[in-house]
Amino acid sequence: MTTRILYTKPSITELETGYATDAAANGWGEKCYDYIVRFEAMFREHLGSRFAIATSSCTGALHMGLAALGIGPGDEVILADTNWVATVSPIVHLGATPVPVDIDPESWCIDPAAAARAITPRTRAIVVTHIYGNLANMDALLALGEQTGIPVVEDSAEAIGSIWHGRRAGSMGIFGAFSFHGTKTLTTGEGGMFVTSDEELFERVLTLSNHGRARNQKKQFWPDLVGFKYKMSNIQAAIGCAQMERIEELTARKREIFAQYRHELAGLPGISMNPEAEGTVNGAWMPTVVFDADTGVTREQMQEAFAAANIDARVFFHPLSSLPMFTPQRENVHAWSIPGRAINLPSYHDMSEDDTRRVCAVIRDLAARAERNVFSPTDIRARG
Ligand SMILES: *Cc1c(COP(=O)(O)O)cnc(C)c1O
Repeated sequence: MTTRILYTKPSITELETGYATDAAANGWGEKCYDYIVRFEAMFREHLGSRFAIATSSCTGALHMGLAALGIGPGDEVILADTNWVATVSPIVHLGATPVPVDIDPESWCIDPAAAARAITPRTRAIVVTHIYGNLANMDALLALGEQTGIPVVEDSAEAIGSIWHGRRAGSMGIFGAFSFHGTKTLTTGEGGMFVTSDEELFERVLTLSNHGRARNQKKQFWPDLVGFKYKMSNIQAAIGCAQMERIEELTARKREIFAQYRHELAGLPGISMNPEAEGTVNGAWMPTVVFDADTGVTREQMQEAFAAANIDARVFFHPLSSLPMFTPQRENVHAWSIPGRAINLPSYHDMSEDDTRRVCAVIRDLAARAERNVFSPTDIRARG
């Protein structure tokens, strides 16, 4: 039997275990925030943002950021229907109404024109997710934000290493949120980061993040408002510091794996992969293959083929509006069509060239069977 190829796995070296051990042994008392302070400084410098607050998750960073923007009951927040549930849940928890719109079929990210059409007098934010490391059209979205006065938020959980015409993903909107979950390019086990260059917003989130205690409040145990508890631990931040020292290596390796897939699969008819538009860098968190609708290749056939080859592959995000707690928005045709014929490929740092070749062989075989009309395109249409 062949060895199993996992789809993600963190890259952990002696640097990470060394810092974590130091934090566990010595990072207490006066030193209890040292790695956190260092991690935040390294992160904001890397990104080119003025402020950063380490959090327990990206979901928590989004929750606090949206709360600090004053979003609550009666407000609408626009986001792409193609998303992880973590992007929508803070909106729901704040009592606001999520408005899922269609994606651009090239970038798989929110379509700026669809976002513009969804704006109402109640719209209080547009949350942009750079899905799989692909960049949303930030020029169009930032212009829309400027014209309407609606803040643009960047969910950059999947986009460390992605650059839009010289500006890093997460540094362009009113605030950005990152995830350091174990499946992400940079990990602290669990964890996240809130980033902004807006000083007022930073101060509000800092207060919210400390149980509502303002940093200039002299009274002990005195919260001025009801806040949150989404802090990162010093031990997690120690791992984060080591990962930040290796950030160029971590993102370069992701891009190398992506390039190898693109090279191996180049010219194969009926498939496309993550785009990298002129003037941008795709951080390549998750290489993804999408079969054209007329190939008839379905997600289920791909899952079966990968399982048979002992390879872990992941399905493309289901449209949020297809989940049981929301109302189906089938007019979001691209968000509803792509997942049925797409698959995420393994891309962990330590995978070998032989591993990527094994993955490509499965895709090539599926494409060859599609060319022989083994799959009926009507199947996929019937599924809708
Ligand atoms: C991973 C992810 C999140 C959530 O990150 P957590 O750190 O698990 O809260 C949010 N949005 C997107 C797009 C993600 O991929």
